[in-house]
Amino acid sequence: MPGQPIKYPFLDLGTANESYMAAMREAAMRVINSGRYIGGEEVEAFNREMAAMCDAPHAIGVSNGLDALRLIFEGYKVLGKLSVGDEIIVPANTYIATILAIGHAGLTPVLVDPDQRTMNLSVEGIQRGLSQRTRGIVAVHLFGRVCWDNDIARICRANDLLVIEDAAQAIGARAATEGLFRSRAAGAIGHAGAFSFYPTKNVGALGDAGAVVTHDEVLADAVKALANYGSDRRYHNIYAGFNCRLDPIQAAMIRVKLPDTDKVNAERFARAVAYDRHISHPAVIKPLMPATPTQCVWHQYVVRISDGRRDDFREYLRKNGVETDIHYPTPPHMQPCYAAETAHAPLPLTERLAKEVVSLPIGASTSEADAREIAAIINNYPNI
Ligand SMILES: *Cc1c(COP(=O)(O)O)cnc(C)c1O
Repeated sequence: MPGQPIKYPFLDLGTANESYMAAMREAAMRVINSGRYIGGEEVEAFNREMAAMCDAPHAIGVSNGLDALRLIFEGYKVLGKLSVGDEIIVPANTYIATILAIGHAGLTPVLVDPDQRTMNLSVEGIQRGLSQRTRGIVAVHLFGRVCWDNDIARICRANDLLVIEDAAQAIGARAATEGLFRSRAAGAIGHAGAFSFYPTKNVGALGDAGAVVTHDEVLADAVKALANYGSDRRYHNIYAGFNCRLDPIQAAMIRVKLPDTDKVNAERFARAVAYDRHISHPAVIKPLMPATPTQCVWHQYVVRISDGRRDDFREYLRKNGVETDIHYPTPPHMQPCYAAETAHAPLPLTERLAKEVVSLPIGASTSEADAREIAAIINNYPNI
């Protein structure tokens, strides 16, 4: 079979940004003409709009998602709620940034296998990771699926754990839990949440950008100061801080897209529904559909196929014009930078998922009709 040119790209950011071009040009000119290139009204306006979107009182724009996570940990350190060596439970099957941030703050990541169906941290995982030194968890809302339920809430409360959310992939997602956390926005469920506006995220800047969201005013002030050299007012440094500020030009770009968050997420949901309805190949395991349409914002649509077949499956799709990706091919604990660290329990599921997962196109350059066509191509995969 002759290879076809790529008809279904994994993600074409040019296409994804097309409908925003005019508004982004205008917003960029506003910043250029303002003469204010660090901080100022553009960033303040972003902070207000981001907080409102998450129904949280505080949002602080920062340099990127990794720094957002790191600033939360550093913030709790300067406030005396965390100290060097404290343990933080984290799912092992996350993007490495989650784990790097814990380590950068001098804390100890305790890696645990996720739940097989949701691929997220579960109460069983937390139970496996708990020790006398556990002070918190990172609830990673992987692939856009909210990692939260009443069992997790109970175990965190019972053990007085800080709940830090890695909401980098989950902007606009909402908890499907009944009761206290009903419909809470991802990033505003726990004590503090970290967001990323990396260009490929559901809401992407034109470069690096991130945000911290929290209900805790004291933490918000600490994060704001830490991100700006530890300065609470001009030339007055209360902490030995960092430079992790959000650029006004990126704040302006994000502000163009932020009002469309629910719309772009609903479009992703429609593509996920199309995949779910139409993929019926016996060798392909589909992701769990969410309990509510907003519990998952489908940053990725990740299917699984057995280890020995994955390369062949991807090659078949590529020959039929479908570009795919792998999130993620090597788990963080198997990366060369962590080769010397052996202090983790066996992580068989994380290691198996890394060999079986395939991400299908689901971003703004993929239509619902594309998803149906891709499903038909998958169903014709000859090797069962
Ligand atoms: C993208 C991402 C990050 C890091 O965000 P950056 O803005 O790239 O630093 C952290 N965690 C997860 C789960 C991510 O997907």
